[in-house]
Amino acid sequence: MKQYDFLILGAGIFGITTAIELCKKKYAVGIINPGTIPHPLAESTDISKIIRIEYGTDEEYMDMAAECITIWREWNELFRDKLYHETGFLLLSNTPLDTESKSFEASSYYNLLKKGFHPERVKPEDLAKRFPAINHHLYADGFYHAVGGYVESGRVVETLTKYAIRLGADVYEGQTAEEIIITNFKVEGVKTREGKKFSAGQVIVCAGNLTPFLVPDLRPYMKITGHPVFHIIPGRPELFTKPGFSVFAADISNTGWYGFPLHPKEKIVKIANHGISVEIKDPEHDERVVYEKDIDRLRKFLKESIPALASDPIVYTRRCCYTDTLDGHFWIDNHPEIRGLTIGSGGSGHGFKMGPVLGEMIAAVAEGGTHKWSSRYRWRHIDGKIKIQEEARFKEK
Ligand SMILES: Cc1cc2nc3c(=O)[nH]c(=O)nc-3n(C[C@H](O)[C@H](O)[C@H](O)COP(=O)(O)OP(=O)(O)OC[C@H]3O[C@@H](n4cnc5c(N)ncnc54)[C@H](O)[C@@H]3O)c2cc1C
Repeated sequence: MKQYDFLILGAGIFGITTAIELCKKKYAVGIINPGTIPHPLAESTDISKIIRIEYGTDEEYMDMAAECITIWREWNELFRDKLYHETGFLLLSNTPLDTESKSFEASSYYNLLKKGFHPERVKPEDLAKRFPAINHHLYADGFYHAVGGYVESGRVVETLTKYAIRLGADVYEGQTAEEIIITNFKVEGVKTREGKKFSAGQVIVCAGNLTPFLVPDLRPYMKITGHPVFHIIPGRPELFTKPGFSVFAADISNTGWYGFPLHPKEKIVKIANHGISVEIKDPEHDERVVYEKDIDRLRKFLKESIPALASDPIVYTRRCCYTDTLDGHFWIDNHPEIRGLTIGSGGSGHGFKMGPVLGEMIAAVAEGGTHKWSSRYRWRHIDGKIKIQEEARFKEK
């Protein structure tokens, strides 16, 4: 039986980027995943995820996201495939972006200026001219930032998996980790539900929603929450393409609503909600459907904000599950007591954009080192009363 230096459990964006980094360092790397990669239920598997620098007052996330955007562009070149679409990002605000304002949009705007970016202020009269599908009467202010857009996230995972294989990783599809074998507080390998045994000096758990089930010590700090996603076929597709439409967030920290321009292949407009939503106790078996009340809320939002979409057909819905940490920050660290066990998870609904730096961070920590951004994501004892700190998130009452 092959002995791996590192066995990674889960080939979403956290796991596959980690595999790539460890292969570059010439380790023997194995990665296992149930079913196929990308897995249909994985958080990373989708037609699009937002790539944005805007993080309100949180300059560390802004710096990370800015560094990632450079790499997303490079990956388009490296893989000769347009996985990252730089459509720009429109942030709409219900309140003016005064210097005194503490809104997510105002903080993001002034931090962008401070860091030398060039966000363009969009007042209601500009909104009417530049983005005619949006109801300009509803938003008092906003800005458009040409740096940002979306990635075709399922295709990103597929492409990175092929790259990991080229770099030497052994990728096992159809293998579900069931038990991490631990002897005397030291990891020895993994047994799978399908009956295989893998030997490894170190195991890295990047199993998304299933992470706290594989490492029960994490259960007090992680919660799986399900969020509605909708695909709509626009009756007037010309209204939803660049430059008249872009990735947008509609006063997101107060409503949760965000969306994408017309998808170049699927020909749909995707709208979703970045809120607290509902806890999913059994993510493996949950039906992951959206509820009537989600559809009612969507229709109300569209009627008010994007009237041209309000009566158009919803052709696909999905409840997609975040692996939330209680504070909304990622979880990247070695287990405090079990040697050879590392966690790379806790995406908390905003992790995909950070893919280009997640792998190097998880790999550095698994090797026993640190990364310039790893200290925030260490193993921590979070009080159950703490609130999610990611500032774009709509914290429903
Ligand atoms: C609706 C929605 C919208 C989002 N939008 C954005 C966005 O716009 N921008 C952004 O930056 N982020 C966004 N996110 C967050 C982002 O998608 C996640 O942070 C990121 O994809 C998490 O990646 P992951 O690798 O941790 O998990 P996953 O992608 O879920 O990967 C985990 C992998 O582990 C596998 N696995 C599970 N159990 C086992 C096991 N027992 N053994 C082995 N493997 C196992 C799974 O099959 C899966 O392939 C969104 C998330 C959701 C749900």
